[in-house]
Amino acid sequence: MRPDILNPLFAEVETLKGVGPGIARPLDRLGLKRVKDLLYHFPTSWTYRKAVRIADVADVGQNIIITLEIVSHRAGGSARSPLRIHGVDADGNYLTLTFFGRTGSWARKQLPIGETRVISGKLERYGDELQIVHPDHIAPAGDARPVALVEPVYPLSEGITSSRLHGLVLQGLERLPGLAEWIEPSLMAERKWQSWNQSLSTVHHKDDQSARDRLAYDELFANQLAMRLVRASLDRRRGPPISGDDRLVSLLKLPFALTGAQRRVIGEIEGDLAQSRPMLRLLQGDVGSGKTMVALHALLRAVEAGKQGALLAPTEILARQHLANLQASLAGLPVNVAILTGREKGRMRESVLMGLADGSIDILVGTHAIFQEAVTYKALALAIIDEQHRFGVSQRLMLSRKGQGVPHLLVMTATPIPRSLALACYGEMDVSALDEMPPGRTPVETRVMSEERLPQLIDGVARHLANGRQAFWVCPLVEESERSELAAAEQRAAMLKLRFGDQVALVHGRMKGPEKDAVMEVFAAGKTRLLVATTVIEVGVDVPNASLMIVEAADRFGLAQLHQLRGRVGRGSEKSSCILVRSAQISETARARLALMRDTNDGFRIAEEDLKLRGAGEMLGTRQSGDSPFRIATDEQVRALIGAAAADARLLIDRDGGLDGPRGAAARLALYLFERDAGVATLRGG
Ligand code: ADP
Ligand code: MG
Repeated sequence: MRPDILNPLFAEVETLKGVGPGIARPLDRLGLKRVKDLLYHFPTSWTYRKAVRIADVADVGQNIIITLEIVSHRAGGSARSPLRIHGVDADGNYLTLTFFGRTGSWARKQLPIGETRVISGKLERYGDELQIVHPDHIAPAGDARPVALVEPVYPLSEGITSSRLHGLVLQGLERLPGLAEWIEPSLMAERKWQSWNQSLSTVHHKDDQSARDRLAYDELFANQLAMRLVRASLDRRRGPPISGDDRLVSLLKLPFALTGAQRRVIGEIEGDLAQSRPMLRLLQGDVGSGKTMVALHALLRAVEAGKQGALLAPTEILARQHLANLQASLAGLPVNVAILTGREKGRMRESVLMGLADGSIDILVGTHAIFQEAVTYKALALAIIDEQHRFGVSQRLMLSRKGQGVPHLLVMTATPIPRSLALACYGEMDVSALDEMPPGRTPVETRVMSEERLPQLIDGVARHLANGRQAFWVCPLVEESERSELAAAEQRAAMLKLRFGDQVALVHGRMKGPEKDAVMEVFAAGKTRLLVATTVIEVGVDVPNASLMIVEAADRFGLAQLHQLRGRVGRGSEKSSCILVRSAQISETARARLALMRDTNDGFRIAEEDLKLRGAGEMLGTRQSGDSPFRIATDEQVRALIGAAAADARLLIDRDGGLDGPRGAAARLALYLFERDAGVATLRGG
């Protein structure tokens, strides 16, 4: 339950004076439903004004405050020409105030002849005259509320102005409860931060980085604390300790020796599995680093211990590929592997469900269908999620609730995540890294080519196919329109068919699962040679004979995404190439980014760069789903402050007695304020 002291902040904006439906609508469009949303709607820029006399004015274009005596009203000749009101300042210099449209009669009343007014607005020149068009403020001389020298400019929606929004914010600020401080005192002192109340007030009254940082920090702190609490609660729960006896692993006949990194990571995982405290581990390994082998070893340990394991893939195609790989590696071993996706229906599905319930299925591979409510396992001891970046936090939590004991959880990702983001998103996990590529893989040679050279490129593809090889052709990413993306791919496929005939196949995101799989299977079997695709091939597909990849309009892709795509080639012993086709005209930055792709294969470096360029939400693929980890902290603030927030959360839990200690009550407020209630809920074992 949310503490009552936060109620004024969670009150609807309609409870503020003067907020009717007319203003609630634009507020709603801005996502401002509650008072706290309004208070956390920060200005993006500021209008600065100087109080001046006309004689001091060096230049027009600035925002000024001026005191004028009104001397005349002059309506224009026609109904559409503006009303011009003239005033003089203390030195006797003239200024015109201009009003268009229907504002004229209102302006006459505000600015009666013979009276003195304080006026603010942007100074312009109109012929020989100086003028202000539609002043921002008109106040009687000596008004108790002077025109502000600095005014916030807010992100707006039609139907509301910055000054109106600011007025509502001021009302909200009056309701601020005094909250106890949750930040560690020495950190407050070191950063010279103000209290939460003061900081909120400050951000709406002046451009102040320190106040914005403090408030962003709060959000990061709540995030880190919630993660720690989840972790702590898992640590208290019991899972099934697994120690294999080697009876299955020793039977594995692999065509290669494990890399040192694979052996090390398998060791780390086995160490976790042997504990009754459930594993919560993230395995980062670049595309092709051999994560599947690691997963296989872990799954076999579960089976050796008489338990079940599950491997969750983000797509149907990948699930089937995993199944095929596992079955190949496990040929001759007494291990029963099954698959469950949206495609298994009717009797097929029933039999899988039965096998899981009675324990006759040892390993289940599938899409998220495998963790639906209807699926019961006899003894699920290990869950592995492949390609984590496609799954949200909520799915992770759901998973950890499945089963009687909490299963061990291994999350595998091929998107190397910069440290700051890893902390923010996976802070509660232990991390392993497969930082060594299997031998015998020749690095992919990357080249950048202008789209103007498409004809030569197609000749190159012809030579490549004539040598018996296969290739991927990735079509441009089209922002926000799957339809035009498809159109582009269809067009390209048609064009390539003119030259290469039946060797060309097309796969795209609009295809249904079975249809897509069929195309992929034919390509994997080598019956088609050139696969034209939208980005659906981004994740996973393994076709060793495909040693050429072309990415059209590569400058529109994110770097991490390009890196993923590039990982689709270079899987065989043959030397592979990736050709990044760029638009004829691109910016310097875009050029530099493509050059980075050409020059490095280091996924971590690419990820850091991508984070700088695109931001966290986009990088994690969460922006559309609204599941971005932070609403207040900017990516820059995440990078700068997440480390401190993690350390502070650790102090609170390990030294200051957690949520039940003296600082804990305040920290609890921060959790609720940022709606990290899950963190609090886990404390009750939920
Ligand atoms: P990813 O980490 O991208 O999931 P995979 O597990 O698909 O990588 O492995 C990529 C390829 O490397 C597969 O064809 C796999 O059989 C092979 N592979 C895995 N481990 C080794 C190894 N130790 N030596 C040689 N090849 C390996
Ligand atoms: Mg993989």
